[in-house]
Amino acid sequence: MSKVIAIDGPSGAGKSSVSRIVGEKLGFLHVDSGALYRIMTWQALEKKINTDDPEEVAKLATMVDIECRPEDGHIAYYVEGEAPGNKIRTPEINAHASKVATVKAIRDYVTNLLRGMTEYGDIVVEGRDITTAVFPDSPARFYLTASAEARARRRQKEEVEKGIANQSAEAVKASLLARDQIDSTRKYAPLKKADGAIEIDSSDLTLDEVVQLVMEKVNEAFG
Ligand code: C5P
Repeated sequence: MSKVIAIDGPSGAGKSSVSRIVGEKLGFLHVDSGALYRIMTWQALEKKINTDDPEEVAKLATMVDIECRPEDGHIAYYVEGEAPGNKIRTPEINAHASKVATVKAIRDYVTNLLRGMTEYGDIVVEGRDITTAVFPDSPARFYLTASAEARARRRQKEEVEKGIANQSAEAVKASLLARDQIDSTRKYAPLKKADGAIEIDSSDLTLDEVVQLVMEKVNEAFG
């Protein structure tokens, strides 16, 4: 059976960097579950679906087919042959993604895709409900968090470096907090620390330090 490392936490806590590095060190494929919700959001906007209407959004689950395949240490996603790239990282997608992610049909579709990924091998999966709902039985489950200021600073730097947007740290913080609020209060699979998950606050830790902590716990969990 494939091994699963599950990492949840709010936006900007460092889940992607940590998951990618831990994946590389252990030869586990990196799975970015947020990208799947972002792809559904991108498709909703492309198809002019009103993201405030859950019934309309639910229809997307049967309209969109996301192809998943292992590539260079991660699971890559394609929609009709197209890799979405930075199209799913814009402030507009940020503003709509959490609404799309409240819809049960969308969550079921994504959860199903994620569970199927164990067939590609060992995986490290990051998201909001991986430790609570998607892979609650994984022996290596983490809740990665950081202060809103630290998270906003990191996200803003990343957006500028990648040429995605040039928002102020304040605007980035407001967007993160708005998403946190929707993600942690929604009806289905809300963001929360799972019982038994190891909590790491990365506000005052370097990336290397967080990776080291995760690696120690993973080694204990898998022996
Ligand atoms: O991780 P990322 O910021 O890319 O996720 C985008 C959005 O997708 C989140 O704000 C959240 O609403 C949703 N999401 C989720 N469950 C996951 C991963 C992401 O609801 N496992």
